Amino acid sequence: MKDSFGRDIYYLRMSVTDNCNLRCVYCMPDGGERQSGEDALTIEEIAEIVRASAVCGITKVRLTGGEPLVRSNIIEICRRVAETSGICELCLTTNGILLPRFVSDLNAAGVTRLNISLDSLDPETYKKITRTGTLDGALKGIYAALDMGFDAIKINAVLMGGVNDNEIFELLELTRKHNANVRFIEMMPIGETADWAGTRFVSVSRVLDIAPELKDVGADGVAKLYKLPDGLGTVGLISPISSHFCPTCNRIRVASDGKLKPCLHSSDEIDLRGLSGKALEDAISAAIFGKPLKHKLDAGETSGSARNMNQIGG
Ligand code: SAM
Ligand code: SF4
Repeated sequence: MKDSFGRDIYYLRMSVTDNCNLRCVYCMPDGGERQSGEDALTIEEIAEIVRASAVCGITKVRLTGGEPLVRSNIIEICRRVAETSGICELCLTTNGILLPRFVSDLNAAGVTRLNISLDSLDPETYKKITRTGTLDGALKGIYAALDMGFDAIKINAVLMGGVNDNEIFELLELTRKHNANVRFIEMMPIGETADWAGTRFVSVSRVLDIAPELKDVGADGVAKLYKLPDGLGTVGLISPISSHFCPTCNRIRVASDGKLKPCLHSSDEIDLRGLSGKALEDAISAAIFGKPLKHKLDAGETSGSARNMNQIGG
């Protein structure tokens, strides 16, 4: 359905858990006590929210987290979402570590596309960023997804000044040999990690400074797309801070505890828990209609949303 500014809202990003097997420095605070996973929506609640969203015009769903692959019954959740009448596309965003175990079942359950996070190709830097992960584990996940034949895998790299901005060329070089889309994303200062993120902002325009041979080949959703002259895959630039894409925003988000966020960077939330049937459909359509025109997050400012990314899903 259209929101009050005429934007077609057809994309739901659904966080199925705030729990994660990594704790990336820009996403979660250090320490184990914050990962509860306890108040996460049940499978039935997720299925009912997706059904009601489809009635409101949602056709594409992305399951995210936290790490969706640590959520119990994730395959069953995927199957239920994929079977929902009106849902044409089911995507999943993962850090990749558990993909070797799950990739075949995800494929069978109806997941059509995978986004995998990979911020560094250097084992030490990867460890520093994720605090608990290994580069080898993430790469095994990416190769498992490629072997499974997932179409045009997206590899997401968040740019961090002084941390991984010296690896831009190596990361985009992955597109020379692989039919993958390596996407550079501007880091957003949000939640408890906002101070850390705010001081390390790097604009995605840096990618074009480093690789001026990249050719503009159009856009895919919020990403501007480029290609190396002899590249198999594409390079995507996502600039939530330096160049807002709010005028073409097409999405809503539901956090793992059932709060609907019409805008990532607003503190406005609508509690969907306890609602079902027509009441749920009405709440979702009102939230879509009430989406704000734009967020106010620019370089040097902090998001209006107090939540951490692992609760919202990115
Ligand atoms: N655990 C999965 C993963 O890492 O891919 C899915 C959840 S994660 C919150 C989704 C995406 O949000 C990831 O690509 C991650 O890099 C990105 N993200 C997390 N915090 C961010 C921040 N402060 N700014 C920009 N992107 C962020
Ligand atoms: Fe976990 Fe993804 Fe957040 Fe990293 S970005 S801590 S993998 S939820």
